[in-house]
Amino acid sequence: MAQPHVLVIPYPAQGHVIPIMELAQRLVEQGIRVTFINTEVNHKLVASNWLDKDRFGHLMQMVSIPDGLEPWEDRSDLCKLTLSILQTMPRKLEELIETINKEDSKVTCVIADDCMGWAVRVAKKMGIRRAAFWPASVATLASMLSFQKLIDDRIINEKGIPLKDETIQLSETMPPIKPENLGWACFKDVATIESSFQLVKEAEEASRLTEWFICNSSTELEAAAFSLYRQLLPIGPLLASNRRADQAGHFWQEDPTCLTWLDQQQPCSVIYIAFGSFTIFNKTQFEELALGIELSNKPFLWVVRPGMTKETTTDYPDGYMERVSSRGRIVIWAPQQKVLAHPSVACFMSHCGWNSTLEGVTNGLPFLCWPYFADQFHNETYICDIWRTGLRLEKDETGFFTREEIKSKVEKLLSDETFRVKALDIKEKITSSVRKGGRSHRNLSNFIEWIQER
Ligand code: UDP
Repeated sequence: MAQPHVLVIPYPAQGHVIPIMELAQRLVEQGIRVTFINTEVNHKLVASNWLDKDRFGHLMQMVSIPDGLEPWEDRSDLCKLTLSILQTMPRKLEELIETINKEDSKVTCVIADDCMGWAVRVAKKMGIRRAAFWPASVATLASMLSFQKLIDDRIINEKGIPLKDETIQLSETMPPIKPENLGWACFKDVATIESSFQLVKEAEEASRLTEWFICNSSTELEAAAFSLYRQLLPIGPLLASNRRADQAGHFWQEDPTCLTWLDQQQPCSVIYIAFGSFTIFNKTQFEELALGIELSNKPFLWVVRPGMTKETTTDYPDGYMERVSSRGRIVIWAPQQKVLAHPSVACFMSHCGWNSTLEGVTNGLPFLCWPYFADQFHNETYICDIWRTGLRLEKDETGFFTREEIKSKVEKLLSDETFRVKALDIKEKITSSVRKGGRSHRNLSNFIEWIQER
């Protein structure tokens, strides 16, 4: 019997690498050999955080393949990145598998992010077992897998461009989506929409070619969306709360000192503010956010990553640091999962990326929602209207979230116990799904058994 050897391929963005890395770690814990494939640029970022500079682990090796762009090219240009991925990576993956099969233990299974659906096709062509992993909400996936129906109903054209402004109702039990919030259609330029739509088509094809289709969600969170796709199996939430910092696949180095700072704060007193790995603020909105946090007059921990504002240096309002330093902490990158589990944290001001959403609800935290793009608006709908564990911030007539709005929503959220009670109720439900006997736990165990079969 061949030793199982699994290739794991994330889409090259932080919010995709983190959950599939956690899945890879779970396989390693079961003694399964894993080769984790990042793009060259992301491999360097992840490797720069390793404690042991040469090795990642015993059973897991990290390798890279090129994404086809030059090292200095801008990967936030998603049109360019997508076209390059589609053109270069399938061939590079095939070459890598051929080399591994010659020199190492044979690849027995490929697990690919469904946004890298082409990798499932490569695996099938090479006669390798395959699984697709969906790292975001099932509601978002549902909108992608329904693209043909959207074309037939003339809601989008053949290239994925929305034709109407009407909201889309995928099923009676699910909340409607605005066309501009469809994952691929949220971009301003047509070329990026069209290239992203190619990934959607690949993802849909992969969902048919794959042998297992697993996702980082739980039926307790999205029962209606799961009922649309019986083949999709929840294995989440996959959280890495106790993972060593260098084994979680982060692009930036975590600042662990904020945990010590949290230890010194009162229970349930701190606002945690973080907008994931991609959100970019303009100068005015960034300043208004800073002043809103100040006006809220609560202890806070705020993540301001490099590149969060368009300017090369982050400009805080005059005298800001001196005024807030006694009750606030600003870090470049936090150990977010550990932060959210800390008893001092009272609420989470978030862009509602799916990982942040899962991490917040699993820790029973109320949310202040500040979505930025794509599926984040849909996640906000779940938080505010379905689970009722958070509040949305409203823009003023000039299109900004004002400092007064931030202050007022923080107060409203923290003074109303019902948000916390609801949040703790959901926490209990979803944590039970990953405990022994729970549905996500069972699916993950069955999946691991399938990998070990040969
Ligand atoms: N994250 C983190 N430290 C930070 C900010 C974010 O570890 O300071 C992690 C967070 O825990 C989550 C991921 O980065 O796992 C962000 O993913 P999400 O889907 O929320 O947002 P995205 O970055 O994809 O927009």
